[in-house]
Amino acid sequence: MKQTISKDLFLHAAVCPTLGWRLRADLPGDRATSAPVTPGEQFWMEQGAEIGRMARGLFPSGVLVSSRNVADAAAQTQQYMQSGGPHVLFEAAFVVDEYAAKADVLIRQGDTWRLIEVKSSVNPRPELVDDLAYTLLVLSKAGLTISSASLLLVSKDYRFGMEDAKLFVEHDCTKEAQARAGEFQAFWDSVRSATRATSMPAPALIPACKGCVIFSDCLGKGIDHHILEIPRLGAKKVDELKGLGVYRIEQIPQTFDLTPIQARVRQAVITGQPWVGPDLKQRLRGIVWPAHYLDFETMSTALPLYPGTAPYTQIPVQYSIDRCTAVGEIVSHAEYIGNPMHDNRRDLAQRLIHDLQGRGSIVAYSTFEKTTINGLAALFPDLAGELSALTQRIFDLEAVLRESYYHPAFHGKTSVKSTLPALLPGMSYATLNIKDGGSASATFAYMAQGRYTSQQIESLKKDLLAYCGQDTLAMVKLHQRLVAA
Ligand code: SF4
Repeated sequence: MKQTISKDLFLHAAVCPTLGWRLRADLPGDRATSAPVTPGEQFWMEQGAEIGRMARGLFPSGVLVSSRNVADAAAQTQQYMQSGGPHVLFEAAFVVDEYAAKADVLIRQGDTWRLIEVKSSVNPRPELVDDLAYTLLVLSKAGLTISSASLLLVSKDYRFGMEDAKLFVEHDCTKEAQARAGEFQAFWDSVRSATRATSMPAPALIPACKGCVIFSDCLGKGIDHHILEIPRLGAKKVDELKGLGVYRIEQIPQTFDLTPIQARVRQAVITGQPWVGPDLKQRLRGIVWPAHYLDFETMSTALPLYPGTAPYTQIPVQYSIDRCTAVGEIVSHAEYIGNPMHDNRRDLAQRLIHDLQGRGSIVAYSTFEKTTINGLAALFPDLAGELSALTQRIFDLEAVLRESYYHPAFHGKTSVKSTLPALLPGMSYATLNIKDGGSASATFAYMAQGRYTSQQIESLKKDLLAYCGQDTLAMVKLHQRLVAA
């Protein structure tokens, strides 16, 4: 059998034939980059697989199509589908005109079939309906009559310790999936042609380019500052610039209508110098000393890990605080990391109140810290007064940076991971064992699942504290850098 076209490949290629061709031609499987899988990504893949396994438990009579090879799985499926075969099939595989699809759960209903796709999300987002619609389309073309198509999602009402059946809630998406399958039909021939073409379909700038995994190797190649870097540049404006043949920020005509924030990005790129807002210094003077630079790390899992918690509850598990009496002068450091085997939120909240007692601003980067403290206040009414008082002291450094400063090397972003290399190139996360928030969250979750020995846990806790500590140190240094701007 020729190499088949998978669901992910079809969905990518339907949006952009160039991307479809590149994924098919350059990359085995559907993985869009050759970057190694991070612990965070690994955790979510494992959790998705676990939810799939638990969903199968809802259908005790189900039979798994076990072959990993698509052709073998499709042949095995045909055998099972014959009259008298199993009532419920898991991972039933179909190949039609090179398109391959696997149905998570397929239930026989007389001469028709009920299609169920299992997802680890709580909301039936459009992209999940698209997944379902693709499978529906392939199964229909294989000759099956699909009586209903639904998403089996994680229930918000599930709580740790409940029986597995309560983890799931079924959303009937038959009408939406049929409508999308009808739209996908229009791509049936073109996607196959594009992905099999001997030469790459010419790329064209579309909204999807902005988040495209190969943008820097496609339309972004050789362009330091693409127009897509400009914040909130709507599709209409992108089209207008495209019409003018303008793809580089520095080529945008001065007469072109941009918002003040967009115009400052253009100015910074053209001059090669940071744009410094006239109010930057005054805004930074709003910080009351001593300042406490605060950063939380949280854990959020589809399968709750502590009593009383629901799927995707954001559980703060650690924090770092750098206390400064003047810009850049750290006089003390406080940190907390919970015992992963317990829900430590109350202990964390009490320690936080203690570590932030007194006066002075609490400097955070984004609104996340405020939201997290508000969540703790809602959870522990007896601590709510003290926790709410903390939120009154929060100073959002990212907001100042977003509104009153722009460096061309930000490339349109203001996250620490974007601003730090631009303003402090010598300071990076590359040498740390944990390098990103998703991996920090996954590491704590793995510990909570009991995957590690106590010795390993002690070592990992140090890695987590180092990561969180780097976030607060980065804030101290960014603040210092902005003061000097
Ligand atoms: S950058 Fe745009 S044109 Fe190129 S592959 Fe991605 S989506 Fe397609």
